[in-house]
Amino acid sequence: MKARGGYFYRVLDVDLSTSRIRSSPVSDEFALKYVGGRGWGARFTWDNLRPGISAFHPDNLLTIAPGPLNGLYVPGSGKTSFSCISPATGLYADSNMGGSFGTELRQAGWDALRIRGRAHELSYIWIEDESVEIRSAAHLRGAGATTTETEIKKDLGEDVRVAAIGPAGENGVVFATVNTDWGRNAGRTGMGAVLGSKNLKAIAIRGTKDLPVCDVDRLTSVAERAYSYLNSHTLMGIWHRQGLMSVIDYANTVGFLPTYNFRDAHFDDAEKINGDIMEGEYKIGNSACFACPMCCGNVCLVKSGRWAGYACEGPEYETAAMFGSNLGITDFSFIVAANQKCDELGIDTISSSNLIGVLIEAIEKGMIGPNEAGLDVSWGDEEGIMKLLEMIADRSGVGDILAQGSKGMLSKWPQLSRITLQVKGLEQSAYDSRVSLCMALAYGTCDVGAHHNRAWPISKELEMGKDWGVEEKVDLVLYHQSIRPLFDMLGVCRLPWIELAIDENLYAEMYSAVTGIEHTLQDLLDRSKAIYDLTRSISARLGVRRKDDYAPPRTFEDPIETGPFAGRKADMATYETLLETYYQRRGWDLETGIPKRETLIKDGLEDVAEQLYRELGSLAGVG
Ligand code: SF4
Repeated sequence: MKARGGYFYRVLDVDLSTSRIRSSPVSDEFALKYVGGRGWGARFTWDNLRPGISAFHPDNLLTIAPGPLNGLYVPGSGKTSFSCISPATGLYADSNMGGSFGTELRQAGWDALRIRGRAHELSYIWIEDESVEIRSAAHLRGAGATTTETEIKKDLGEDVRVAAIGPAGENGVVFATVNTDWGRNAGRTGMGAVLGSKNLKAIAIRGTKDLPVCDVDRLTSVAERAYSYLNSHTLMGIWHRQGLMSVIDYANTVGFLPTYNFRDAHFDDAEKINGDIMEGEYKIGNSACFACPMCCGNVCLVKSGRWAGYACEGPEYETAAMFGSNLGITDFSFIVAANQKCDELGIDTISSSNLIGVLIEAIEKGMIGPNEAGLDVSWGDEEGIMKLLEMIADRSGVGDILAQGSKGMLSKWPQLSRITLQVKGLEQSAYDSRVSLCMALAYGTCDVGAHHNRAWPISKELEMGKDWGVEEKVDLVLYHQSIRPLFDMLGVCRLPWIELAIDENLYAEMYSAVTGIEHTLQDLLDRSKAIYDLTRSISARLGVRRKDDYAPPRTFEDPIETGPFAGRKADMATYETLLETYYQRRGWDLETGIPKRETLIKDGLEDVAEQLYRELGSLAGVG
């Protein structure tokens, strides 16, 4: 059946090596089967995968896909997915960007933008509906990401949407970001470095088209129910005031606040970096992604002191925790400054602060000497940490080692593996999983590495306590790993569901209204689950196996050192049981962790099954 809305059925292809620009058709069957966003990105990545195509190879295809609800009258519909092979992990990855950049791409009449090749000089892509140009960005070499956005807007107009990289992306820092709207990022897995490897400084878009919707009245009616629910929610007030910053106190209370490189899970000075401090002393405004009533962006300004004048859209919980308690920082003004510095340099706040924490602990314990590090940096050392951010971006001194991410750092200093919090090469997000085996399993099995994006089951697990057995825990992680990526496929924000418990069935209704084809939530969850099997199949072709599905060693080996949760660590035997049950539920081989042939066939991915098993044909015990 052909959808009567939701898609333009075409993708914009730009080859930067040949300057060839073309419109490629997308079939109706493809559009619905892969839904959009990360679903499309995963399939395009699968189709493009060949031996030798690593992250920085010109043929590493970068897909920017907003999703079929993006840009519509739907809460938080400004989300878009960047997908490709990641320089941080060497595996499939996607990173989700808020703001309005993806919406503008849709309004220009494109369902997705695919970029391959490498431009002969630093360039940017300029899209104005059908008109597409590759322009020189030589004058922007070395410019910060937010400065680049400002400069391009001066040339093209304030109404243009720009996504840009900073010097870190140009210099191949494997956790470089792509920034838009001066503060929203495709933050994780190194998408900015992939743009940099293509000599692509930015993408600028102006779109003027209406978006295709089959049943506008039905969409409006369902969306109004959604907006009305959100706007009358009792938590909306605190959400507007603090956004995700309110999580600091909760994390500190229940024991997952990263502290001193995840050695501890409770920070005695948490009240100096929490949401109340942010709201009372730094916040000067709110910002929001397209069509979002939740406005979670805390625009902050440092008004006095050493970091006076620094300002940013943020910080949110992750950045405040990782640059705060995790590095022994008690001054919120530094956190604002570090946030702005990361946005301008174009580096991920989570990965950079995680790796700096490892470095500080390594120096403190004598695992590497100050001479080897080239500088002495310690907990709470604001100047030293700020200097390190600049060294990472320009790849000088020890910054060059950190710029290579966990994988690069551990190849230089393998003795740090015990204290490095990473999975598959991606640094762990700001949630200590020693209080939550579900979270440990979520990190271990996340397709892009130790990222909370795919599953965040901590609060539910803590709420259920000892009443929950293995099956319930695994089912919770599996449900999260289907519903959360589904939001990234549709092009909408997951926070209305996570934070304010909006009925997720509404999104199936809205997708049905847009496409004109009835979909239940379960239909869409099945598609999301199939995409998870697809991204796992990509990773399997790139060598990922069961051994790669474990939370970081510290989770199991190092008890929390001090504070109310001292002595707690995760139990490996229980984790093994969870992992086996997880594989069984997913239909993945117990020994290898590779999706079984019949699982992929059930997903409707027959051709994927055939190709995967042809390539893996020599492996015994798989199939
Ligand atoms: Fe953007 Fe925050 Fe709204 Fe989500 S909740 S769409 S991240 S403003």
